[in-house]
Amino acid sequence: MGVETTGPALEVLRRVFGYDTFRGSQQEIIEHVVGGGDALVLMPTGGGKSLCYQIPALVRDGTGVVVSPLIALMQDQVDALTALGVRAGFINSTLDLDSRRAVEASFVGGQLDLLYLAPEALASPGTMRLLERGRIALFAIDEAHCVSQWGHDFRPDYLNLSVLHERWPDVPRIALTATATTSTHKEIGTRLGLTGARHFVSSFDRPNIQYRIVPKQDPRRQLLELLRTEHRGDAGIVYCLSRSSVEKVAEFLKDNGVPALPYHAGLDARVRADNQSRFLREDGLVMVATIAFGMGIDKPDVRFVAHLDLPKSVEGYYQETGRAGRDGLPSNAWLAYGLQDVVQQRKMIEGSEGDAAHRRGLGRHLDAMLALCETVECRRVQLLAYFGQQSGPCGNCDTCLSPPESWDGTVPAQKLLSTVFRLQKERNQKFGAGQCIDILLGKKTDKVVQWHHDELTVFGVGADLREAEWRAVVRQLLAQGLLAVEGDYGTLVLTDDSAEVLGRRRQVMLRREPERPVSAAKVAKQRSAAAATELPAQAAPLFERLRAWRSATAKELSVPAYVIFHDATLRQIATEAPTTLAQLSTISGVGENKLAKFGQQVLDALGDPEPA
Ligand code: ADP
Ligand code: ZN
Repeated sequence: MGVETTGPALEVLRRVFGYDTFRGSQQEIIEHVVGGGDALVLMPTGGGKSLCYQIPALVRDGTGVVVSPLIALMQDQVDALTALGVRAGFINSTLDLDSRRAVEASFVGGQLDLLYLAPEALASPGTMRLLERGRIALFAIDEAHCVSQWGHDFRPDYLNLSVLHERWPDVPRIALTATATTSTHKEIGTRLGLTGARHFVSSFDRPNIQYRIVPKQDPRRQLLELLRTEHRGDAGIVYCLSRSSVEKVAEFLKDNGVPALPYHAGLDARVRADNQSRFLREDGLVMVATIAFGMGIDKPDVRFVAHLDLPKSVEGYYQETGRAGRDGLPSNAWLAYGLQDVVQQRKMIEGSEGDAAHRRGLGRHLDAMLALCETVECRRVQLLAYFGQQSGPCGNCDTCLSPPESWDGTVPAQKLLSTVFRLQKERNQKFGAGQCIDILLGKKTDKVVQWHHDELTVFGVGADLREAEWRAVVRQLLAQGLLAVEGDYGTLVLTDDSAEVLGRRRQVMLRREPERPVSAAKVAKQRSAAAATELPAQAAPLFERLRAWRSATAKELSVPAYVIFHDATLRQIATEAPTTLAQLSTISGVGENKLAKFGQQVLDALGDPEPA
């Protein structure tokens, strides 16, 4: 069967998509589905999941039906396929009646290669009747983790998708997701009834993404510094926890000359859709957003994802950062994290709805995220280990590039815990981190004097560390569960494990921030080195000319620029400077249809003299 199906699949890959070879396990997956098998595919963002169902849909008889929750992106997906010469359509609530009729007619008439449907559409008897009138090549269930009731992307309609198998037992199903934890993986299998499906689990590494986690001092300034030194003119996403901080950060960036747009669930649906569409279509925009933004955004040239607040889980962090660098070019995942994040998140968990088990679950997620922030080991090793995958130090994360030290913080930990202990036992009082640190530093602030805290035996015993160092100690003890916060004011309290430290039965190892965090200069050098290997000097002006042509053409056709050609394809064209259509056709990303449609224009753009 292998030999039989490789031929047509490879032929489609080359002719339609213009790519030479399959990536990773694409070929295996495609052969399996072409042969009628069910599949569950776990592949990181940018890994190339779409081809895994698009090619079988083109090779098998009938239409590939794709279930996707991303209604706002269906038009772009269909446009991208149309540009490749693939016959695609979608049905969702945004479609007017005439367009819907037209799509239905093409489906029934066997003139569609791919049909995208929203999950809620499948709940309607009308859609089921429609599907029965056509011929179905396969069902693809995209963003399959939406079936998981624990994840933040849960869509109730996904629970009904098992009916597909009951009504079309012979049609192969392929479920795909970039969410990698084993629990989600299992849940997808059971809830979708994919019992006999073959599982394809790829490596989750994204080698082109550089992971960096920095101590939060003045987050907006730090962000601006990052954008100015490393990401001038780049497209990127900045994640914030709350709607109000989204608004403020977007304003701040605009005031400082960075083209930024806000996105959160509180904005008018029209504004949201507009901002999303501008982000996808225009070059170099920064989207400042809550996590409501981003699922399915397949803009390939997002150069950075910055977090100004701590994500609630490693899964969330990984998914959000994964939106950077889908095109495989160097990209940054940057997170600023501080004591206040820990306090705030613990408070949110304490105040969250749901039972104790639910809160414990949230607590575990947060602990894993904190462990990632406080590690002295390679970030990537830790991230991949979280998803059950082994690896070695990566050389492309902050801890690899600028290793932090680990130091014995047992004595400072004892001093801090003992301060909390004395306040509680001797005075029956609870205070937040600020007051405890002032006491340790021996600062006679009004609040210290007012409460007579200068009379405590621990007053001034911590003068050997600076305030910022004490904050790091508090943060890390919170992260390690040796200290806890409670109540609205985030007061510090001891935990069961605190006693071990106070009783000298436990050593506390802490992370010391490197003297010089990964310097922008160091990174800039690496980036320009990377860019240089891809773009020789003489190619740079050609690349700019091609980009200008692409952006004009995209505007004219009102599609995102990447639907025409990706940056990676334009770079290769600029480098090889083809002079004939035949030469152009050998470049990765130039398929039959795009060659016919845009080939001559590309050659003209290359041959044009410099604009006067
Ligand atoms: P995912 O859905 O897994 O995030 P996509 O399907 O969007 O990833 O693919 C990511 C990028 O990689 C796209 O730009 C796609 O065109 C490109 N791509 C996928 N497969 C190949 C391949 N075999 N050769 C070259 N490029 C590929
Ligand atoms: Zn590393």
